[in-house]
Amino acid sequence: MPTSDGGLARLFADAEGPEKTPARPPARIGPNAIIQTGQALSALYGPGVARLIFEAAGLEHYIGSLPTTMLNEHEPVALFAAIQATLPHAEADRVLAEAGRRTGHYILENRIPPIARQFLPKLPAGLSSRLLVSAIARHAWTFAGSGRFEGRVTGWKRPVVTLVIAANPLATPGCPWHGAVFHRLFASLCGDVASVRHTQCCARGDGACITQLGLGLAPMP
Ligand SMILES: [Zn+2]
Repeated sequence: MPTSDGGLARLFADAEGPEKTPARPPARIGPNAIIQTGQALSALYGPGVARLIFEAAGLEHYIGSLPTTMLNEHEPVALFAAIQATLPHAEADRVLAEAGRRTGHYILENRIPPIARQFLPKLPAGLSSRLLVSAIARHAWTFAGSGRFEGRVTGWKRPVVTLVIAANPLATPGCPWHGAVFHRLFASLCGDVASVRHTQCCARGDGACITQLGLGLAPMP
């Protein structure tokens, strides 16, 4: 399903940034999938643990020399797998959620134009969420890699945002990373996020990862 019509999408000029957006990214993903995960590991467990996990993932070449260009998505896949193999389940999810929160913040600061960051929070959530889905669809390679992203919003007073990544390459059970990316973006720009549900997951055998965010009431005028 399309994310938005072209008229709304045109409100969002591309933010300036060093990364180039390929028209169709084949198995490539933005470097923040590695950068923010390394920072989350260091923040939560210290640089020593971060180093060990990067080494376990075969990514020691990024220690002290973080990537700056698009990555082969197999690299963050390996990093996420090393985190899951090294840490207890709950701790792994905690790291992935923190990495997702940081990646959402990066997208917010660098991929959402400043004017959109100013006016979206002033709009009713039913409208701002539709505009934000349109905006993030244009940068889906940042969080979806080769996965096929679609987003839609239903309802107006209590909108429900449904975000689908078919064949999600970065899926881990329940996808705490993606949930945190989306929560950070929508909570920052569309008001309260009342719930985040991951109703289908590629890591659990489904064909697509589906995240649903329930948004609160529209802000008072
Ligand atoms: Zn998933």
